[in-house]
Amino acid sequence: MLNAKQNIIKRLPDFVANQIAAGEVVQRPANALKELMENAIDADATEIHIFIQDSGKTKISVRDNGFGMNAEDAVLCFERHATSKITASADLFSITTKGFRGEALASMAAVSKIEMLTATDSQNPGTRIVIEDGKIITQEPVSCPKGTHLTLKHLFYNVPARRHFLKSDSVEFRHLLEETERLALVHPHVEFKLIHNKTEMLHWPATTSILRIRQVLGAQIDAQVLPVDESTPYIKISGFVGLPQHALKARKDQYLFINERFVRYPYLHHAVLQAYEQLIPDGHQPKYILFLTLDPQHVDVNIHPTKTEVKIDDERTAYHLIQSMIRRALGKANAGPSLDFNTEMGFMDIQINTDKPLEAPKIDYNPAYHPEFNPKPKPTGISWDALFNSVPEHTEAPAQVLNLEAEENNLFFLYAKRYMVYPHPEGIMLMDIRRARERILYEYYLSKTAESALPAQELLFPEQFELSVSAAQWMRDWQQDLLLFGIRVEPFGGQHFILYALPSGVEIQHAKEWMEQLRESFLLHQDQGITDVRDNVARALAQTGSWTTSWIQEQSVFGRLREDLKTCKQSQYSPAGKPIFMLLKDFDIRKFFKS
Ligand code: ADP
Ligand code: MG
Repeated sequence: MLNAKQNIIKRLPDFVANQIAAGEVVQRPANALKELMENAIDADATEIHIFIQDSGKTKISVRDNGFGMNAEDAVLCFERHATSKITASADLFSITTKGFRGEALASMAAVSKIEMLTATDSQNPGTRIVIEDGKIITQEPVSCPKGTHLTLKHLFYNVPARRHFLKSDSVEFRHLLEETERLALVHPHVEFKLIHNKTEMLHWPATTSILRIRQVLGAQIDAQVLPVDESTPYIKISGFVGLPQHALKARKDQYLFINERFVRYPYLHHAVLQAYEQLIPDGHQPKYILFLTLDPQHVDVNIHPTKTEVKIDDERTAYHLIQSMIRRALGKANAGPSLDFNTEMGFMDIQINTDKPLEAPKIDYNPAYHPEFNPKPKPTGISWDALFNSVPEHTEAPAQVLNLEAEENNLFFLYAKRYMVYPHPEGIMLMDIRRARERILYEYYLSKTAESALPAQELLFPEQFELSVSAAQWMRDWQQDLLLFGIRVEPFGGQHFILYALPSGVEIQHAKEWMEQLRESFLLHQDQGITDVRDNVARALAQTGSWTTSWIQEQSVFGRLREDLKTCKQSQYSPAGKPIFMLLKDFDIRKFFKS
């Protein structure tokens, strides 16, 4: 009796078969496992149990509870180009199943010994097939549960060259796990269990998409990623993208699925990387788990033997959507739902609770602004000097708050000499001034030096200093590159140097210390994989510039800093990828006080 869900296998007509990219499907155990698991998914299985021996070299066995095959199909399925999934070449353009070529089982039968038990319902007998040397040697009725249990033994026993080519057990096993993870991520409603040499390696009961991500990637992933969700009539994209600070040097935890198929898509991978530009050091890789869904007509899955490469017809749309979606998500996450610099001011009263009478800050405007940064300084009446002098020395001490209501209703106070705290429509925003400044300086140096050297300011008193042997070598190596930034240093015999000029606006106390800081910062970036020298010096210079607090006096107001940040390409993160803003959400504040 035929099960209603069961498909009928047919041999593909030759002209269709020829349209299918030829290729070796099975090159290593993981490929075989992938094909077997995919067949189980195509058969609507809700349980996939995998048994492996010796990383698949001795045995790969997959048992599913899908709709199974009748006696006739159980034989036919091992024929090349026999499939129940497509019948006409037109079907090739709207594929919704994992398999469609009818090649996998035939290929496996050619390179291993196979035993298959399959049944379309548990009441009636199923079929047992044994294949050796590509021929069916046993075909008999058998009592077995509904579903298919297919076992491959001694993969490549008859192709010694292939067998020889296999990697160590641990490498092959890693591939097996990876294939399982990829499929499991996109089929959360299917239970996966994998037993290797009698040890249970994984068991993921059926669950929701989010919980499956946790099962596969571990619970720590929660804190490392942000949700994304966008759709247009052409494409729907959902999933998670990693926070910049969790980017790694390794390409790990990067998953792109198109219509439930794990794919490698260098062009779209690039879209993701672009979205993280300047947020993570060169060579670092963001995590992402993205699910793209679009009409199968727009996806060609028939371009690669193992179907891990596909082509979508309007790649550019997908590219731009991915990029803008990620940028938006990263922006929101750290700056609150809208880092709208215009609307977030002055709606909230801050109650000041302090025993000491609060001294109002001196109102005077410091005109010593940075000419490059602040071409048109607007005096707003706040003295940064006063501001800084009136906060407690120890950052651990309870915050003494200053309620400053300046012109333009700019309401904010400074916490721990470093964080600007101000009201935001969705709560209370904290801005890390040092990181903000670092971001501004970094982009400034980078953009200015793109065309020509930064204007240098000759020092009235050139400063002589001595460096360690290694630092001196560094100095000689990078002397020319520093020139681009307006830093003119010349050797003065041995480990001695003279500093003649600095970029205008940069003030330093001692040339030696500053140079050492600059070098340290430069070397650190180099370690982090920043290979571009200009980028590196810009970062180092921004970092050393934001260490000192003297710049704060040049900064006319809080508004100024925010104005500068607004013009930055990336205003949410420091060049090292650390967040500049933190939002204490109104919701969380109220929740806390409710309990
Ligand atoms: P394809 O998946 O490309 O159709 P395969 O060689 O992987 O080709 O499988 C051939 C056919 O065998 C499938 O089209 C399907 O009808 C049948 N089949 C294979 N595995 C299973 C399974 N686990 N459960 C039910 N049917 C299966
Ligand atoms: Mg298949």
